[in-house]
Amino acid sequence: MSGSAKRLVLYLPVLHAGYERLLERHGDAEVLLLGRGFHEVFPALRKDIRALDPARAAAYLGGPPRVRVIEPEDLPGALAGDLVMPDEEVMRELAGRYGLEPAFERTFLRWDRPWSLEEAPVGSAGITRTELDRHFIREARGQAGRSSDWWRQVGAVAVRDGEVLAEAYNRHHPSEYSPYVDGDPRNEFRRGLRADLSTAIHAEAAVVAEAAREGFSLRGADLYVTAFPCPACARLIAETGFRRLYFTGTYSVLDGEGVLKAANVEPVWVDLNG
Ligand SMILES: [Zn+2]
Repeated sequence: MSGSAKRLVLYLPVLHAGYERLLERHGDAEVLLLGRGFHEVFPALRKDIRALDPARAAAYLGGPPRVRVIEPEDLPGALAGDLVMPDEEVMRELAGRYGLEPAFERTFLRWDRPWSLEEAPVGSAGITRTELDRHFIREARGQAGRSSDWWRQVGAVAVRDGEVLAEAYNRHHPSEYSPYVDGDPRNEFRRGLRADLSTAIHAEAAVVAEAAREGFSLRGADLYVTAFPCPACARLIAETGFRRLYFTGTYSVLDGEGVLKAANVEPVWVDLNG
């Protein structure tokens, strides 16, 4: 490879189709894999117990001359020429640390912090404008308005054959006033981040709990929610066996949408305009 060659710099813990596509897109590039020495630079990488030994990963990819492992002491010399890096936290830090200006490629390879916080548009939901669906979404909004969580009020209504089975809003435990008595741990976190660190039960979970408490099934019922469910609630909705999820808002976080799709819960966006 000449000194001016294109170089693709990667942290590659596990070989999968995403990396394969990235490598194919840059078939003309020399591939530099981050070696074990980078564990000292980025300690979070040590936690990745799936990770292949970088030398083994390089061998699987065909090895030199196209693929080789670099260590921190090889930098910045090894990173001359045109650089391409996947847009990951590790790569951004690496570039920042060594004053590099690579082309960052937006491609999902693994969950890192920015990707985990990403709010992705819900991909392929149906759309409804029927009065009945709007009615139940308004009902869910009415529930949301009862929440003492003024920062984030969410309502959920379970419906079967036009009949409301259960409805709820996000509620704090042990009391509605908890966040105002002890402070709200959510204040420390941005929306979507560490949704588990909350003193509230989410509206969707409260609906499922009501069904469990009162002894009726929600299997095959529809759920109307004022916001797309968080990943934990998406799993609960999937396990409960809801048929359709009607929602407003447009964003899902982490794997919420994928979980629902895999469980054949049909997402339907309720258009309240017009
Ligand atoms: Zn939730």
